[in-house]
Amino acid sequence: MSTGDTNDGPLSDRTNLVIVNTAERYQSVLDRVATAARAAGRAPESVRVLAAVKTQSPEAIATLVDAGGTLLGHNRAQELAEVAPALATLRPGATLETHFIGQLQTNKAARVVDLVSCVHSVDRMSLARKLATAANSRGRVLDVFVQVNASGEETKAGVRPDDAVAFALDVAALPALRVRGMMTIGAHSSDPAVVDRSFAVMQELSDAVVQAGLDAPELSMGMSQDLDAAIARGATMVRIGSDIFGPRP
Ligand SMILES: *Cc1c(COP(=O)(O)O)cnc(C)c1O
Repeated sequence: MSTGDTNDGPLSDRTNLVIVNTAERYQSVLDRVATAARAAGRAPESVRVLAAVKTQSPEAIATLVDAGGTLLGHNRAQELAEVAPALATLRPGATLETHFIGQLQTNKAARVVDLVSCVHSVDRMSLARKLATAANSRGRVLDVFVQVNASGEETKAGVRPDDAVAFALDVAALPALRVRGMMTIGAHSSDPAVVDRSFAVMQELSDAVVQAGLDAPELSMGMSQDLDAAIARGATMVRIGSDIFGPRP
């Protein structure tokens, strides 16, 4: 007898339930983004939602695509290489925009360039050069974000805030790379003031980089826990995983 547990029903019902949940979760993220944008006096359309798809199956991602979520962010080169063709088979003709958002080893840069239009995690010149060489040899321009360690946490990747503007200018000087803006992972803290400070640093850097003459006004920041705070500080792209797909195993 059913106990009301969502896993009790026949498989077809369960599959439907997952589909409804992903679509509903995605919609509620869009609603939350719109509310946060309006509260900050910004247009809801000024913030894009990128789905962080790490650990998700191609089927789960296809469900999101059906719900209109077509901006996807991958963390691992290997997973990207496996999921991208599977997704193309599941949803042939779907227009997807795929970005890379995780830490990237220099020796995987060229492989990633073949599968994405944008890399959010450029944090060292050796990586920038590899990406530029790969994009150039394919006759392409690759969009990039400069990753900044705005919170100063030792475990986090990214350039120091003090170095960010000069580094962005160096990256922008490479042919075949177009710097769109800066990216960060917000402070890992339960104190809203600490989280806000990390995003405020980014807002200042974003102004500084534009002031320095780069047409790179975007800010990739905000995740499931802190998207509202990021939008209040000018995020133009939030990267959302668990609030769209449910908790990761
Ligand atoms: C996983 C991930 C996210 C999304 O995190 P959630 O807390 O699941 O929303 C965003 N950015 C990066 C770089 C990630 O690795």
